Amino acid sequence: MLPAAKFLQSYFGGSMRIRTPLSVVVPCYNEQAVLPALHERLSTVCRGLGTDYEIVFINDGSRDATWDAMADLAARDPHLVCVNLSRNYGHQLALSAGLRECTGDAVVVLDADLQDPPELLPDMLAVMRRENADVVYGKRVSRAGESWQKRAFARLFYWGLAKLSEVPIPRDVGDFRLMSRRVVEGLTALPEHHRYIRGMVSWLGYKQVAFEYHREPRAAGLSHYNFQRMSRLALDAVTGFSVRPLTFALKAGGVCLAAAVLTLAAALWSWAGGSVPTGGLLAALFLALAGGQFLAIGIVGEYLGRMFSEVRGRPLFVIDQVLRSTHGAIHPRR
Ligand code: UDP
Ligand code: MG
Repeated sequence: MLPAAKFLQSYFGGSMRIRTPLSVVVPCYNEQAVLPALHERLSTVCRGLGTDYEIVFINDGSRDATWDAMADLAARDPHLVCVNLSRNYGHQLALSAGLRECTGDAVVVLDADLQDPPELLPDMLAVMRRENADVVYGKRVSRAGESWQKRAFARLFYWGLAKLSEVPIPRDVGDFRLMSRRVVEGLTALPEHHRYIRGMVSWLGYKQVAFEYHREPRAAGLSHYNFQRMSRLALDAVTGFSVRPLTFALKAGGVCLAAAVLTLAAALWSWAGGSVPTGGLLAALFLALAGGQFLAIGIVGEYLGRMFSEVRGRPLFVIDQVLRSTHGAIHPRR
């Protein structure tokens, strides 16, 4: 048996239900032009692993003939699972649908446009095995074929998110990643509607290892992430992983009130010295009013932040493993 196949069976075997050793999940929106090449390259790589596998294509309400192309391929390939969403829900939700439908004990996610080369899969599996990791995430060391505006936006976005986020979310990492079944199940159990999946994977924890790769240009067609979609994703990322923006008002209120006190003290001091400090008193009054308003907004923000985390309904914690000693023997349970 080939090493990857052996690893998939031994790593995920035992107490875990084996359905398919490997799933490849690909969300597709208007990808008719690349689908045959994608299927061909993916199948070649998967066949080379010497293990059973499934390829899950999700048609995210495409307007072109993507679904027909999928049905065509599915008629010839028993490894293919095709999911047709009722309309266009967007990349992150299409991906979530694929993660829910797949049955693999190891699951790799990649883009349909071949920007994430499927040929890296055996190496990613090798890293997972060597490091005993639950997640191997693709880290882009270069991005061919992307405009400077997109790169600049990405750089600014990852920098800002790293500053704001409450869990460390690695930079220059997209959705190209290999995950264990328990990570996929952890993800599907998170009920939030605004899904920033890379952040959610980071939030889940477990051992996560970076895998550096060069991102290829799109094989065909155009990127669906225009400025508006990128901004929406950025907003989902920030609001999903940080309540810090809500606390800015509280800090601003504190600063304004401190400044009001200092200005008032300076005004009174000069009053004692004989001059009438009309300007200073006005400035102190203005700062006190602004500070009070900021403070009030900040307090509302604090409550809102707490309500938001309750409503999001994430579990309180995720357990990696439990060691329990019974009659002198320790039984680790993953
Ligand atoms: N995608 C999707 N639904 C959408 C937009 C995109 O399923 O509404 C898929 C798309 O087919 C591709 C992946 O998400 O497989 C990434 O999209 P794209 O390549 O356009 O993004 P980029 O790589 O330019 O950031
Ligand atoms: Mg792409």
